[in-house]
Amino acid sequence: MTNETGWQLRPIGVVRSEAKERKQLPPLGLPATIELFPEYEPGLLHLEKHTHLWVLVWLHAAERDLLQVVPRGVRAEDPDALHGVFAVRSPVRPNPIGLTLTRIERVEGCRIHVARLDFIDGTPVIDLKPYFVSRDMVYSAANAQIGRPASRENLRESLWEQALNFHGEPCAELALAVRIIEHFRWEVLEGRDPATVVVSAPRQRGCLVDGLMGMTRVSLGRRTLDLIEGDSVILEHEGVRHRYDLRPQSGDDAGAVLGADQATLFEWRQVSGA
Ligand SMILES: [Zn+2]
Repeated sequence: MTNETGWQLRPIGVVRSEAKERKQLPPLGLPATIELFPEYEPGLLHLEKHTHLWVLVWLHAAERDLLQVVPRGVRAEDPDALHGVFAVRSPVRPNPIGLTLTRIERVEGCRIHVARLDFIDGTPVIDLKPYFVSRDMVYSAANAQIGRPASRENLRESLWEQALNFHGEPCAELALAVRIIEHFRWEVLEGRDPATVVVSAPRQRGCLVDGLMGMTRVSLGRRTLDLIEGDSVILEHEGVRHRYDLRPQSGDDAGAVLGADQATLFEWRQVSGA
Protein backbone atom coordinates (compact mmCIF):
# COMPACT_ATOMS: atom_id res chain seq x y z
CA MET A 1 0.00 0.00 0.00
CA THR A 2 2.61 2.60 -1.00
CA ASN A 3 1.55 5.52 -3.16
CA GLU A 4 3.62 7.60 -5.59
CA THR A 5 4.73 10.10 -2.93
CA GLY A 6 5.99 7.34 -0.69
CA TRP A 7 3.59 7.36 2.26
CA GLN A 8 2.23 4.07 3.40
CA LEU A 9 -0.86 2.53 4.90
CA ARG A 10 -0.07 -0.42 7.13
CA PRO A 11 -2.87 -2.94 7.64
CA ILE A 12 -3.80 -3.55 11.27
CA GLY A 13 -5.46 -6.88 10.58
CA VAL A 14 -7.44 -8.96 8.17
CA VAL A 15 -11.08 -9.95 7.54
CA ARG A 16 -12.02 -13.62 8.04
CA SER A 17 -15.21 -14.60 6.21
CA GLU A 18 -16.81 -17.61 4.55
CA ALA A 19 -16.92 -15.55 1.36
CA LYS A 20 -13.76 -16.23 -0.62
CA GLU A 21 -14.81 -14.12 -3.59
CA ARG A 22 -17.08 -11.15 -4.07
CA LYS A 23 -19.87 -12.98 -5.85
CA GLN A 24 -20.39 -15.10 -2.71
CA LEU A 25 -21.31 -11.98 -0.71
CA PRO A 26 -24.96 -10.95 -0.36
CA PRO A 27 -25.38 -7.15 -0.70
CA LEU A 28 -25.33 -6.64 3.08
CA GLY A 29 -22.54 -9.12 3.71
CA LEU A 30 -22.10 -12.12 6.02
CA PRO A 31 -21.12 -12.70 9.66
CA ALA A 32 -17.36 -12.28 9.86
CA THR A 33 -14.37 -11.92 12.15
CA ILE A 34 -11.76 -9.19 12.18
CA GLU A 35 -8.38 -10.64 13.11
CA LEU A 36 -6.19 -7.87 14.43
CA PHE A 37 -2.43 -8.43 14.26
CA PRO A 38 -1.30 -9.09 17.88
CA GLU A 39 0.79 -5.90 18.16
CA TYR A 40 -2.41 -3.83 17.78
CA GLU A 41 -4.44 -5.63 20.47
CA PRO A 42 -3.83 -2.91 23.15
CA GLY A 43 -5.77 -0.58 20.83
CA LEU A 44 -8.97 -2.51 21.64
CA LEU A 45 -9.04 -1.32 25.28
CA HIS A 46 -12.66 -0.39 26.16
CA LEU A 47 -14.03 -1.36 22.77
CA GLU A 48 -16.77 -3.15 24.75
CA LYS A 49 -18.29 0.28 25.55
CA HIS A 50 -19.74 0.31 22.04
CA THR A 51 -22.23 -1.89 20.22
CA HIS A 52 -21.34 -0.86 16.66
CA LEU A 53 -18.12 -0.32 14.78
CA TRP A 54 -17.02 1.42 11.59
CA VAL A 55 -14.64 -0.88 9.73
CA LEU A 56 -12.28 0.60 7.13
CA VAL A 57 -10.51 -1.74 4.72
CA TRP A 58 -8.30 -1.59 1.68
CA LEU A 59 -10.07 -3.20 -1.27
CA HIS A 60 -6.91 -4.31 -3.00
CA ALA A 61 -8.64 -6.00 -5.95
CA ALA A 62 -10.92 -3.07 -6.85
CA GLU A 63 -10.67 -1.10 -10.07
CA ARG A 64 -9.24 2.38 -9.50
CA ASP A 65 -9.57 4.09 -12.89
CA LEU A 66 -13.36 4.53 -13.14
CA LEU A 67 -15.29 7.54 -11.79
CA GLN A 68 -18.81 6.36 -12.63
CA VAL A 69 -20.37 2.97 -11.94
CA VAL A 70 -23.68 1.14 -11.71
CA PRO A 71 -23.88 0.21 -8.02
CA ARG A 72 -24.23 -3.46 -7.16
CA GLY A 73 -27.70 -4.72 -6.32
CA VAL A 74 -29.61 -2.17 -8.43
CA ARG A 75 -31.24 -2.66 -11.82
CA ALA A 76 -28.56 -1.87 -14.41
CA GLU A 77 -31.11 -1.36 -17.20
CA ASP A 78 -32.70 1.69 -15.53
CA PRO A 79 -31.67 4.93 -17.31
CA ASP A 80 -30.45 6.58 -14.10
CA ALA A 81 -28.44 3.59 -12.83
CA LEU A 82 -25.02 5.22 -13.46
CA HIS A 83 -23.58 7.13 -10.48
CA GLY A 84 -20.36 8.96 -9.65
CA VAL A 85 -18.13 6.89 -7.37
CA PHE A 86 -18.21 9.59 -4.67
CA ALA A 87 -22.03 9.38 -4.61
CA VAL A 88 -22.10 5.64 -3.87
CA ARG A 89 -20.29 3.06 -1.71
CA SER A 90 -18.90 1.03 -4.63
CA PRO A 91 -15.39 -0.46 -4.10
CA VAL A 92 -14.44 1.13 -7.42
CA ARG A 93 -12.75 4.48 -6.61
CA PRO A 94 -9.32 6.14 -6.90
CA ASN A 95 -8.42 5.11 -3.33
CA PRO A 96 -10.24 1.81 -2.77
CA ILE A 97 -11.07 2.30 0.90
CA GLY A 98 -14.09 0.30 2.00
CA LEU A 99 -16.25 1.55 4.87
CA THR A 100 -18.92 -0.51 6.63
CA LEU A 101 -20.86 -0.12 9.84
CA THR A 102 -21.41 -3.37 11.74
CA ARG A 103 -22.55 -4.66 15.12
CA ILE A 104 -19.95 -6.14 17.49
CA GLU A 105 -21.00 -9.64 18.58
CA ARG A 106 -18.05 -10.34 20.89
CA VAL A 107 -14.35 -9.69 21.32
CA GLU A 108 -11.91 -12.53 22.06
CA GLY A 109 -8.32 -11.31 22.39
CA CYS A 110 -7.46 -9.79 19.06
CA ARG A 111 -10.47 -11.32 17.27
CA ILE A 112 -13.61 -9.22 16.88
CA HIS A 113 -16.68 -11.17 15.80
CA VAL A 114 -19.17 -8.94 13.98
CA ALA A 115 -22.72 -9.37 12.69
CA ARG A 116 -21.99 -8.64 9.04
CA LEU A 117 -19.22 -7.51 6.75
CA ASP A 118 -19.48 -7.05 3.01
CA PHE A 119 -15.76 -7.79 2.54
CA ILE A 120 -14.25 -11.07 1.39
CA ASP A 121 -11.87 -13.27 3.34
CA GLY A 122 -8.34 -11.85 3.45
CA THR A 123 -9.32 -8.19 2.96
CA PRO A 124 -6.75 -5.98 4.77
CA VAL A 125 -8.26 -3.91 7.59
CA ILE A 126 -6.76 -0.42 7.88
CA ASP A 127 -8.75 1.11 10.76
CA LEU A 128 -11.56 0.61 13.28
CA LYS A 129 -13.62 3.41 14.83
CA PRO A 130 -16.60 3.18 17.18
CA TYR A 131 -20.03 4.28 16.00
CA PHE A 132 -21.07 7.25 18.14
CA VAL A 133 -24.81 7.64 18.63
CA SER A 134 -24.26 11.29 19.51
CA ARG A 135 -22.45 12.17 16.28
CA ASP A 136 -23.17 9.52 13.70
CA MET A 137 -26.92 9.05 14.01
CA VAL A 138 -29.01 11.51 12.03
CA TYR A 139 -32.53 10.20 12.18
CA SER A 140 -33.91 12.86 9.83
CA ALA A 141 -31.27 12.25 7.13
CA ALA A 142 -32.56 11.26 3.71
CA ASN A 143 -31.16 9.64 0.57
CA ALA A 144 -32.85 9.89 -2.78
CA GLN A 145 -33.03 6.33 -4.05
CA ILE A 146 -29.74 5.14 -5.57
CA GLY A 147 -31.51 2.65 -7.82
CA ARG A 148 -34.34 0.17 -7.81
CA PRO A 149 -33.41 -3.07 -6.03
CA ALA A 150 -32.42 -5.89 -8.36
CA SER A 151 -34.72 -8.36 -6.58
CA ARG A 152 -37.49 -8.50 -4.01
CA GLU A 153 -35.14 -10.51 -1.75
CA ASN A 154 -32.54 -7.70 -1.89
CA LEU A 155 -35.25 -5.25 -0.87
CA ARG A 156 -36.51 -7.42 2.00
CA GLU A 157 -32.99 -7.92 3.36
CA SER A 158 -32.28 -4.20 3.25
CA LEU A 159 -35.58 -3.33 4.95
CA TRP A 160 -35.01 -5.94 7.67
CA GLU A 161 -31.62 -4.38 8.41
CA GLN A 162 -33.15 -0.91 8.69
CA ALA A 163 -35.96 -2.13 10.94
CA LEU A 164 -33.49 -4.03 13.16
CA ASN A 165 -31.21 -1.01 13.40
CA PHE A 166 -34.11 0.98 14.81
CA HIS A 167 -35.72 -1.61 17.08
CA GLY A 168 -32.53 -3.35 18.25
CA GLU A 169 -33.79 -6.95 18.29
CA PRO A 170 -35.70 -9.29 16.00
CA CYS A 171 -39.37 -10.04 16.66
CA ALA A 172 -42.41 -11.13 14.65
CA GLU A 173 -44.07 -7.69 14.72
CA LEU A 174 -40.92 -6.10 13.32
CA ALA A 175 -40.89 -8.71 10.55
CA LEU A 176 -44.54 -7.92 9.81
CA ALA A 177 -43.63 -4.24 9.37
CA VAL A 178 -40.94 -5.32 6.88
CA ARG A 179 -43.42 -7.37 4.85
CA ILE A 180 -45.83 -4.41 4.67
CA ILE A 181 -43.20 -1.93 3.45
CA GLU A 182 -41.79 -4.59 1.11
CA HIS A 183 -45.24 -5.04 -0.47
CA PHE A 184 -45.74 -1.28 -0.73
CA ARG A 185 -42.32 -0.64 -2.30
CA TRP A 186 -42.26 -3.67 -4.61
CA GLU A 187 -45.84 -4.21 -5.70
CA VAL A 188 -47.36 -0.72 -5.40
CA LEU A 189 -44.36 1.47 -6.31
CA GLU A 190 -42.56 -1.04 -8.61
CA GLY A 191 -39.35 -0.94 -6.58
CA ARG A 192 -39.25 2.80 -6.01
CA ASP A 193 -38.54 4.39 -2.65
CA PRO A 194 -41.17 7.05 -1.89
CA ALA A 195 -39.74 10.50 -1.06
CA THR A 196 -42.60 11.10 1.33
CA VAL A 197 -45.12 8.82 2.96
CA VAL A 198 -47.49 9.31 5.87
CA VAL A 199 -48.04 6.30 8.12
CA SER A 200 -50.96 5.51 10.40
CA ALA A 201 -50.30 2.53 12.66
CA PRO A 202 -51.91 0.78 15.65
CA ARG A 203 -50.87 2.56 18.83
CA GLN A 204 -50.83 -0.66 20.89
CA ARG A 205 -48.37 -2.45 18.57
CA GLY A 206 -45.09 -0.79 19.53
CA CYS A 207 -42.73 -3.17 17.76
CA LEU A 208 -44.65 -2.78 14.50
CA VAL A 209 -44.57 1.02 14.87
CA ASP A 210 -40.80 0.92 15.52
CA GLY A 211 -40.27 -1.10 12.34
CA LEU A 212 -42.32 1.30 10.25
CA MET A 213 -40.43 4.29 11.69
CA GLY A 214 -37.06 2.66 11.05
CA MET A 215 -37.84 1.95 7.41
CA THR A 216 -39.68 5.14 6.44
CA ARG A 217 -38.24 7.77 8.87
CA VAL A 218 -41.72 8.97 9.74
CA SER A 219 -42.06 10.74 13.08
CA LEU A 220 -44.74 12.10 15.37
CA GLY A 221 -43.02 15.49 15.50
CA ARG A 222 -43.09 15.97 11.73
CA ARG A 223 -46.69 14.73 11.63
CA THR A 224 -45.79 11.96 9.21
CA LEU A 225 -46.80 9.33 11.78
CA ASP A 226 -50.24 8.96 13.32
CA LEU A 227 -51.07 6.39 16.00
CA ILE A 228 -54.56 4.97 15.60
CA GLU A 229 -56.89 2.40 17.16
CA GLY A 230 -57.53 -0.93 15.47
CA ASP A 231 -55.40 -3.42 13.57
CA SER A 232 -54.66 -1.71 10.29
CA VAL A 233 -51.68 0.12 8.86
CA ILE A 234 -52.41 2.91 6.38
CA LEU A 235 -49.72 4.28 4.08
CA GLU A 236 -50.61 7.54 2.37
CA HIS A 237 -48.61 8.41 -0.73
CA GLU A 238 -49.33 11.06 -3.37
CA GLY A 239 -52.91 11.46 -2.19
CA VAL A 240 -53.69 7.72 -2.27
CA ARG A 241 -54.23 5.69 0.89
CA HIS A 242 -53.11 2.06 1.03
CA ARG A 243 -54.75 0.09 3.79
CA TYR A 244 -53.24 -3.08 5.24
CA ASP A 245 -55.69 -5.00 7.44
CA LEU A 246 -53.53 -7.24 9.62
CA ARG A 247 -54.49 -10.89 10.09
CA PRO A 248 -54.13 -12.46 13.53
CA GLN A 249 -50.71 -14.08 14.02
CA SER A 250 -49.59 -16.84 16.34
CA GLY A 251 -46.10 -17.20 17.74
CA ASP A 252 -43.21 -14.78 17.81
CA ASP A 253 -40.95 -16.19 15.13
CA ALA A 254 -39.50 -13.37 13.05
CA GLY A 255 -38.06 -15.81 10.51
CA ALA A 256 -41.48 -17.40 9.95
CA VAL A 257 -43.06 -14.02 9.26
CA LEU A 258 -40.24 -12.98 6.92
CA GLY A 259 -40.78 -16.17 4.92
CA ALA A 260 -44.58 -16.40 5.22
CA ASP A 261 -47.04 -16.32 2.36
CA GLN A 262 -48.02 -12.65 2.16
CA ALA A 263 -51.74 -13.47 2.07
CA THR A 264 -51.54 -14.94 5.59
CA LEU A 265 -50.15 -11.68 6.99
CA PHE A 266 -52.44 -8.93 5.73
CA GLU A 267 -55.07 -7.88 3.24
CA TRP A 268 -54.15 -4.85 1.14
CA ARG A 269 -56.49 -2.44 -0.54
CA GLN A 270 -56.28 0.98 -2.04
CA VAL A 271 -58.61 3.52 -0.50
CA SER A 272 -59.02 6.47 -2.85
CA GLY A 273 -59.01 10.02 -1.54
CA ALA A 274 -57.85 11.10 1.89
ZN1 LIG B 1 -40.15 -6.23 19.20
